[in-house]
Amino acid sequence: MTKPALSTPVLFHNGLLIDGTGGDPVASSAVLVEDGVVRWAGPDAAIPAELPQGTRRIDVRGNAILPGFIDCHVHMVAPGGAFNHAALAAMPKTLQTFLSAPRMKATLEAGVTTVRDLAGADAGHKKAVEQGLVVGPRLQIAVAMLSPTGGHGDMRMAEDNRDCDPAMSRLADGVPEARRAVRDVLRKGADVIKIAATGGVWSPTDQPDDDGFLEDEIRTIVDIAAGHRGKKVTAHAQGKDGILNALRGGCASIEHGYEITDEGIDLMLQNDVFLVPTLTTLNTDPDPTKATSVQYAKKRHWQEVGRAHVRHAIERGVRVAMGTDCGIAEHGTNMRELAYLVEYGMTPMGAIKAGTSEAAELIGLADELGTLEPGKRADVVIARGNPLEDITSLSKPENVLLVMKDGTTYKDLDGLTA
Ligand SMILES: [Zn+2]
Repeated sequence: MTKPALSTPVLFHNGLLIDGTGGDPVASSAVLVEDGVVRWAGPDAAIPAELPQGTRRIDVRGNAILPGFIDCHVHMVAPGGAFNHAALAAMPKTLQTFLSAPRMKATLEAGVTTVRDLAGADAGHKKAVEQGLVVGPRLQIAVAMLSPTGGHGDMRMAEDNRDCDPAMSRLADGVPEARRAVRDVLRKGADVIKIAATGGVWSPTDQPDDDGFLEDEIRTIVDIAAGHRGKKVTAHAQGKDGILNALRGGCASIEHGYEITDEGIDLMLQNDVFLVPTLTTLNTDPDPTKATSVQYAKKRHWQEVGRAHVRHAIERGVRVAMGTDCGIAEHGTNMRELAYLVEYGMTPMGAIKAGTSEAAELIGLADELGTLEPGKRADVVIARGNPLEDITSLSKPENVLLVMKDGTTYKDLDGLTA
């Protein structure tokens, strides 16, 4: 497949405009797209008299016009559902890559036009989308998660002493090794650095409240990333002490944050750090036929911890960006996260912002993405009905009628552009 040609100019009109800025929705509104860019957005009554030559008018029949959504936490090479790291590690890399192609397509068709892949996908995944070989969201990649020995990225069982990096991680201990590990993922094209600041639910030899990297290691990684065109570091962080290490070390966001305390929340508010609570995965119940009994019990316990603490952080006004951990959760179900964010205390508009303008801010692309304002890339979602009245409607892919990325339409259920 070759890269789709830029489409003719398009005017979506007769829509409920929810532009991602958090401003009030506007009925009977329009968005003008030309050369892959939003040129104009506003009420139908104010559509410019002079439209570009050949503009196609598309009546969206009162449905919602939204920006393309951004999922800040995905693993395209992981299959979704409890998975076996040994099986993944044993799988040829090429097969892992081919298997991720339909997942990328399902993600785009759910309405997610940008994904931050937080370990697993490499620069080839990103380039394959850019070159039009694979249909999917644009990607930012972490390449691999940096983790200490025995930490969340160390998938070896206790008796396994083989000295090799796991499928989706780089192991490092101490400041010099942390330096080498971060430089290695930067060398491989990392847009963002992912670290393990605590243990986790699925790693075999640690617990979510075990510390991962300590503050000196984290600070070193943050400094090196910052010196590479201002790249940011995000921390897998679940237990309260590791969350504090990540925050004191200078991370830009906290993934999961299940046991975040008021002390951590204060630091997040002071330093403008985002929480990516991955509620889709938190609320995915463990499958007793796939998880070991230890993993099953761990997951159940941490579901309770997460429910209480994340709700409190949202109540206190921490900035939230949408992230699902799809790859652990099923791919293509990304938009369920919005409904969970509302269930945990956000307004529907707050949840939509978390998935659009706030997420764009976190990933450093607020100039290009996240709102339907003139000059932004034309990532547009047309969704059935009014998601502000029923946020769960967005989680059903059949309600996501049309998905446009960079001005090219990739999904059009009702044949609006036919
Ligand atoms: Zn993850």
